[in-house]
Amino acid sequence: MRVLLASPRGFCAGVNMAIECLDECIRIFGPKIFVYHEIVHNKYVVDKFTQQGVTFVDEVHEVPEGAVLLYSAHGVSPVVREAARARKLRTIDATCPLVTKVHIEAIKYAQEGYHILLIGHEGHDEVIGTMGEAPASITLVESPEDVDQLSFPADSKLAYLTQTTLSVEEASAVIRRLEERFPQVEHPPKEDICYATTNRQFAVRSLIPEADVLLVLGSQNSSNSRRLMEIGQALGKGAYLLDGAGEIQPAWFEGAETVLVTAGASAPQVVVDECLEYLRTHHGATIEEVTTRDEHVHFPLPRELRQLAKLEAAGAQGT
Ligand code: SF4
Repeated sequence: MRVLLASPRGFCAGVNMAIECLDECIRIFGPKIFVYHEIVHNKYVVDKFTQQGVTFVDEVHEVPEGAVLLYSAHGVSPVVREAARARKLRTIDATCPLVTKVHIEAIKYAQEGYHILLIGHEGHDEVIGTMGEAPASITLVESPEDVDQLSFPADSKLAYLTQTTLSVEEASAVIRRLEERFPQVEHPPKEDICYATTNRQFAVRSLIPEADVLLVLGSQNSSNSRRLMEIGQALGKGAYLLDGAGEIQPAWFEGAETVLVTAGASAPQVVVDECLEYLRTHHGATIEEVTTRDEHVHFPLPRELRQLAKLEAAGAQGT
């Protein structure tokens, strides 16, 4: 078996920052920390932190008054922030700056009187957070068919934004339909689908013609991981989304010579390594890493954490 290992793959700058943020919170406050929703959509990562004593909650009222609450990489709506204030929680915001950018765009367009068409997936944490910034001014559209159903007058003041982890091609299809129906529709100068999503999709699109099977390391609820799997499926390849080597089924590789391996933006390298080890051991795989784009993005920790770390360091020097 020949394995093509896609690069870039796995952790993006936002996920790295969110995980570093939680590690740093544990170091400063101890493990009795609460996180609003999964820190990132990955089972391995969430299980690891749960074992360390971190509690993931779906609602702010589950957090004891005065406790430390971390907002996950996907961002939260103002209603959540208000509920946390009312409970006097000490909050740390690990929202990815590229998600925050979409929130800011939503607020700006709503203040300027636009109605916003948010291209995204219903129920995703990021979509819920963004829509919460201006609920009366945002309509979710998931497909070109949804655009056909819109009943705004032809000359309405409209703008569109997108979830950061969409399929570049599917989002383009929705945008094309929007621009056909509403040629005046505004959009931000720089697109919202983030660099990490775009680069991981580009790697899979570039390498998939050489492969018979696609393995995507990532969790079922990870939007960007699912989009990677769908690229393989759309081309008629066997394409599988898995949390780790334990889920591999030998039948996937019947008649396959080349397997393309990648990982979603929230999947850690350790699960990729385990998968490669399985393929080496059970299928005699040779691994060839192929880089289609370079990535050098890094986000600093949130200011409140950096300040805490500084205070700590100053305290340590004083003693
Ligand atoms: S996938 Fe993109 S938007 Fe989401 S956390 Fe990573 S860098 Fe940020």
